[in-house]
Amino acid sequence: MQENAKKLHSLLSNGSKNIIITTHRSPDGDAMGSSLAVYNLLIQLNHSVNIVVPNNYPKFLKWLPSDDKVIIYEDNKNCSDDLVNKADIIFLLDFGNIYRIQPFSDTIKASNANKVLIDHHEDPDNDIADIVFSYPNACATAEVVYEIIDAMNFNNYINKQIAECLYVGIMTDTGSFKYPSTTSRTHQIISKLIDAGAENSKIHDFIYDSLSSDRMKLLGYCLNEKLILIEENNSAIISLNNIELKKFNFKKGDTEGIVNYALAIENIFFAVFIVEKDGLIKLSLRSKGDFEVDKIAKKYFNGGGHNNAAGGISNTTLLETIKKVELITNKYKNEIKKT
Ligand code: 5GP
Ligand code: MN
Repeated sequence: MQENAKKLHSLLSNGSKNIIITTHRSPDGDAMGSSLAVYNLLIQLNHSVNIVVPNNYPKFLKWLPSDDKVIIYEDNKNCSDDLVNKADIIFLLDFGNIYRIQPFSDTIKASNANKVLIDHHEDPDNDIADIVFSYPNACATAEVVYEIIDAMNFNNYINKQIAECLYVGIMTDTGSFKYPSTTSRTHQIISKLIDAGAENSKIHDFIYDSLSSDRMKLLGYCLNEKLILIEENNSAIISLNNIELKKFNFKKGDTEGIVNYALAIENIFFAVFIVEKDGLIKLSLRSKGDFEVDKIAKKYFNGGGHNNAAGGISNTTLLETIKKVELITNKYKNEIKKT
């Protein structure tokens, strides 16, 4: 950390730079929180900074400080490509594999800018950046961003804006400070962020208690009608097709967290949420205990993530994907059983 922080510090101290910040497709709270925190730091250091994200993100994140500066790549390809061509430094936040920023990947790969990766996923491609801050044990990329700011002695720059962005990243990626990745250090950082002005109660309200009635009804439908319990394998599956999404006026972010309800059931240690979105079958895998779902995501669904939370894509139909997951629960039932 110290050595990389030193390198980054000198990169940032050598005159004003053109900087791009980007993050993974379908950005979540950690992706947007980390990106906007880094943005709010770099503008104080007098750099010229642009945030470009591959595609759109949920409304419940759109109150974040400087959200109005975010450029959506899918809607602004030419201007984004121009900005990348002029960039001296590119920050890659909250992902470890370049395919996760599609359709922005090629532009970023082709750029000669200095690339800085800050991430907490398992198995990152180390060759995608010149400076790699990869901490798979960190609870969130936002936590790593805090540690880097700390290591560069830039703590004085942590204003209310940065504090709120980092708070959102850590809060969302720890399931509100409950996942095993949450440490005493996480809580120390949170305490510093609150001291720096993060309004914790307001942030919880904006993210968790401002849901549309459609989203709540969709959750109710999933639990009432769509829950497949495979009790003998300590597993559960929930799936949704396009027609069901339409029926509940699906908006981006509406299915976030549904998988966690399946995992909250007694004796369920492996939960999978499968959704048909934009012609793709997307999976969210979660586990409790030692069953490493990132390995399952990588082996069967071209994906990855963390030991207890991962994602991937299926290239068959929704029904075949459900079958495939059922077979996986059979195959791994001994590993799934919590020890
Ligand atoms: P979610 O299920 O919430 O989409 O993702 C869970 C975790 O897995 C997140 O940390 C996310 O970044 C990661 N993840 C989701 N989809 C993919 C994927 O296709 N590939 C990889 N490598 N990670 C993913
Ligand atoms: Mn994250």
